[in-house]
Amino acid sequence: MEDRIISANLMMEDQGMELSLRPRYLGEYIGQQQAKDNLKIYIEAAKQRKEALDHVLLYGPPGLGKTTLSNIIANELGVNVRTTSGPAIERPGDLAAILTNLQSGDVLFIDEVHRLHRTVEEVLYPAMEDFALDIIIGKGPSARSVRLDLPPFTLIGATTRAGLLSAPLRDRFGVVCRLEYYTNDELEFIVSRSADILQVEIVGEAAREIGMRSRGTPRIANRLLKRVRDFAQVVGDGIITLDIAQSALKQMQVDQLGLDQIDHKMLRSIILNFKGGPVGLDTIAATIGEESQTIEDVYEPYLLQIGFLQRTPRGRTVTPLAYQHLGLKPPAPPGSQATWEL
Ligand code: ADP
Repeated sequence: MEDRIISANLMMEDQGMELSLRPRYLGEYIGQQQAKDNLKIYIEAAKQRKEALDHVLLYGPPGLGKTTLSNIIANELGVNVRTTSGPAIERPGDLAAILTNLQSGDVLFIDEVHRLHRTVEEVLYPAMEDFALDIIIGKGPSARSVRLDLPPFTLIGATTRAGLLSAPLRDRFGVVCRLEYYTNDELEFIVSRSADILQVEIVGEAAREIGMRSRGTPRIANRLLKRVRDFAQVVGDGIITLDIAQSALKQMQVDQLGLDQIDHKMLRSIILNFKGGPVGLDTIAATIGEESQTIEDVYEPYLLQIGFLQRTPRGRTVTPLAYQHLGLKPPAPPGSQATWEL
């Protein structure tokens, strides 16, 4: 799964490139208009009052720009950003060390904030609310709690699973932004911008083609661009034309909507083995040999988004749109008199 070219998760090969392609200011950050409009006002207000920005929660599928946006917020505020992730903070003391090293107004970015340990989370509550750290000194009956003041700071939490966040933590974020999948126009723009930075020539139609196959996700758009660039260099004369883009994407087995072999396998399996559903997640997982969790986190969100799958209380159902895309005939709606032509 991790090797899928259309995986939205960060892969080793992305790391160097992502740094250079990452927008630094709100003006360069494409799309997510609503989140940007709101943030612009909150940032400006915090700067005018010379206060730390309220804590921000960014949520949405991987690769949509949560890390990028948190760096942008720090840049726009003119403060430092300290980056860590939920599972990386193992003990309350680790978090205390991070917090006491912040300077006034700094941004602390915690990726995968839903994976914080419970004991660590409890240290975070007074830190977020009162900029204070409660430390227990001593053990047993003589233990006492001492309160340490912290510099005011902004916590930016990112998560792909907002539903897994504990209520007390969620309630402490003053600003909550949901990031949406990008439109084809926005992705075309992102591909053209990245090509510019990478100094590779690309025609508009090719940028659009790559954008359309990127599953609404800038990280995938940039990765596809990079692979197509290699193709253009070896097979063509370095310029990414529509032809080159199409044949490279075909070779990578990424279809017109950005679906790969595993998406096809899953949809076909629901159609052929379970008459299109409804079928339970665990059954699908067992049939195609993937983990239920992986299906739920990685494959399913985009298929739901483009209306190829539906979640019902009895399981997953494939929609007529998906049948059409796969070149299969959808079953007649229940109760209709339609006859089958095969
Ligand atoms: P997340 O933290 O949500 O997984 P990232 O912030 O790491 O996603 O974004 C992945 C890559 O996608 C970034 O390196 C950046 O190059 C690109 N990207 C994300 N959002 C945008 C955007 N709005 N405009 C341009 N590029 C973007």
